[in-house]
Amino acid sequence: CKMADLEAVLADVSYLMAMEKSRNEPYKRSTKKVQLPDPSCRDVTYKYLQEKTQISFDHLFNERIGYNIFKQFIMNGGSGDPGSEKALLFLEKIKDYQEMDSNALRKPAAKAIFDEFIMPDLLARDHPYDIEDAEEVRASLANDETSHDLFDKYGVSIKDMMLEHEYPSFVDSTYYTRYLQWKSLEINTRVKIEDFSLHRIIGRGGFGEVYGCRKVDTGRMYAMKCLYKKRIKMKQGERMAVNERDILARVDTPFIVCLNYAFQTTDRLCFILDLMNGGDLHYHLTQRNSFTEAETRFYAAEVILGLEHMHNRSIVYRDLKPANVLLDEAGHVRISDLGLATDFSVKKPTATVGTHGYMAPEVIEKGSYDSSADWFSLGCMLMKLLNGRCPFRPPKCKEKSTIDNLTLTMNVEFPDTFSPELKDMLGKLLERKPDRRLGCQGRGAEEVKSHAFFSALDWNAASKVKLTPPVVPPKGEVNAADAFDIGNFNEDDTKGIKLTKEDDDQYKNFDIFLPDRWQKEITETIFETVNQEADRIENKKPKRS
Ligand code: ADP
Ligand code: MG
Ligand code: MG
Repeated sequence: CKMADLEAVLADVSYLMAMEKSRNEPYKRSTKKVQLPDPSCRDVTYKYLQEKTQISFDHLFNERIGYNIFKQFIMNGGSGDPGSEKALLFLEKIKDYQEMDSNALRKPAAKAIFDEFIMPDLLARDHPYDIEDAEEVRASLANDETSHDLFDKYGVSIKDMMLEHEYPSFVDSTYYTRYLQWKSLEINTRVKIEDFSLHRIIGRGGFGEVYGCRKVDTGRMYAMKCLYKKRIKMKQGERMAVNERDILARVDTPFIVCLNYAFQTTDRLCFILDLMNGGDLHYHLTQRNSFTEAETRFYAAEVILGLEHMHNRSIVYRDLKPANVLLDEAGHVRISDLGLATDFSVKKPTATVGTHGYMAPEVIEKGSYDSSADWFSLGCMLMKLLNGRCPFRPPKCKEKSTIDNLTLTMNVEFPDTFSPELKDMLGKLLERKPDRRLGCQGRGAEEVKSHAFFSALDWNAASKVKLTPPVVPPKGEVNAADAFDIGNFNEDDTKGIKLTKEDDDQYKNFDIFLPDRWQKEITETIFETVNQEADRIENKKPKRS
């Protein structure tokens, strides 16, 4: 079918080009330009935020847009205090320092900070900060003590100083107006399907499709997962769809495919998710048959951090398998598809859900269970990555009952090629009784992370996404099935289904807008250009006296 091939290639090319272009010059590329509201929105916006008790120095300082504008104010002279600019840079250095996770990094950084920001004051006998704090830091450095909190007192006094000496002048300046213009825009932003241009279909699931898409105002690429309301109704999946939304709204970590926006149209529910364009682990496994122990350790680490994030929120994932672990363009992985995840804090689940071959015995046996289920599935998935097949699934076997029976009875044997640490860990993850399993002894993920298999792994680096990925997905490839192979739904299926008002009532609180996410997207793309544009427009107008 030559035409279909050509179409598929063209779709891929346009998708890849969109991804490339979204990296450069986002404002130029945007087909719907963001424009700030007129400065006269200032008072209404202020009142609105005040009523919501969202107006304070802390709010401003902790938001990306607020901080950005405040910093501009300071860098352009601020209230006129020449020390403020340096103080703010000092604060930024302190923040970087606090984030450093090893003494080896902190030691030279601490010395550099001391020399640049504290020493000159001491020499000049000029002490904008408490001199005792300076002496304390000096003493710690002399003793080679460079703990995380070394400069904390400075951090606090700089913030206090900003609040006392700079914030009042900031509030009186046009910078504050600019801040309120952005807040007005934020408050009035309703993200809709028209805000995205769809590129290529990249996947299909039970209720709908996943597309690579571009947000037209910022040029940022996302994945759009669409669930068709009629399809949901046909399969009575309303509770599942709303559950997926609720769970997605509760997670925020680099190790899970997270939600950026949720909204609906008359016929679908849409999730705007982080785009993972490196393919899934199942796909990469088929490209190479198996992964080495070292490679598997990397994937295990990032997946464990994703599970830990969910378990900390009393969420059990229930669908861990290679196909649900997606790679980004650098090769880092995230857990995706939270459709089966569920809260176990109020009531422990008893339903048998998941994928046969990865399900824990307690899930198959319809007892109640909690996060224990995920640790068993992790064992199954790691076996699959190392060995190319599930431990409980005989080659070519499609019988679910056979697979389940083996899960309940079989003692897994490990190849001699596995290291002793690996065998030990897998044995403990695949423990049939949850109360004897690794990860279920009261300390959760910590038990798995501290197993000997991970003794050489730097969990601090891992949690900051700083490990080196073993596989870097090829650039300039879509890394997803051909659009043609993904295929279409049979439209006839849902022909007889009519949506009623009762159906829509179930989705009335579906939409989600996360200001944090929106601000991140804005500041990483078009923020500066929009500000320049607003300056240009506002300077053209006659000045109010
Ligand atoms: P369902 O819940 O219906 O199974 P999924 O969330 O698993 O839907 O998505 C279906 C397919 O779409 C996945 O198998 C994957 O190939 C692709 N996909 C899903 N989310 C993303 C994403 N964020 N980035 C890239 N591809 C994705
Ligand atoms: Mg899926
Ligand atoms: Mg799902």
